Amino acid sequence: MPERKRLVAGNWKMNGLQADGVALARAVAARVGERHACELLVCPPATLVTAVGAALAGSGVGLGGQDCHAAASGAFTGSISAEMLKDAGCSHVIVGHSERRHGHGESDADVCAKAAAAWRAGLVAIVCVGETRAEREAGQAVEVVSAQLAGSLPDGASAARLVVAYEPVWAIGTGLTPTSADIAAMHAAIRGRIPPATRILYGGSVNPGNAAEILALAEVDGALVGGASLKAEDFRAIAEACR
Ligand code: PEP
Repeated sequence: MPERKRLVAGNWKMNGLQADGVALARAVAARVGERHACELLVCPPATLVTAVGAALAGSGVGLGGQDCHAAASGAFTGSISAEMLKDAGCSHVIVGHSERRHGHGESDADVCAKAAAAWRAGLVAIVCVGETRAEREAGQAVEVVSAQLAGSLPDGASAARLVVAYEPVWAIGTGLTPTSADIAAMHAAIRGRIPPATRILYGGSVNPGNAAEILALAEVDGALVGGASLKAEDFRAIAEACR
């Protein structure tokens, strides 16, 4: 089986004006240097993609979008297509983040169409899945995530163009994380449901203090980082935990 190079991706969400984004990108590039312990990616808000891409030029840190529309173009006010992200310099796009699934009512079918759009544009799709607290407490976490995977992955998935991010909804932005045993068990369950060698990231309150333990778990191939990715030093420390 080919080696799965670890990936640490920062999701900046709706944070940053031009000057903040460029300063953060420069600080990330300066701190991680040229020899990364893992593949690194930042996903700024759409307004910052071009400026952040320029600030990261030559650093080896990749650029991703946070969401895309399923269509390539058209009358979809306020939306951005995968082709537009590709054109702006992105290599990846996050789809199905819980803030889209739960905050914007996106279904598995919507996420599936967005992942297919990412592939059509030549982007790697980072497909997010994860259970709510109520679903975990009801013992349904694996069942819920399995159903999300079944409904969210288009035909033709492969390790080259798919990354799966397991992000328990209740762990995002809360400071809470599942136990290491629960993360390992979920990643093992996901592994059996996706193409061989596809990377599986863990996301949900990853920080410099817990990254090493999480990244050492079997079947954890990296992290999707929200809040801690807004501090260059914390992002660097999480990336270092890949070593
Ligand atoms: C996320 O939004 O994908 C995320 C994991 O956020 P946080 O790290 O802040 O929990």
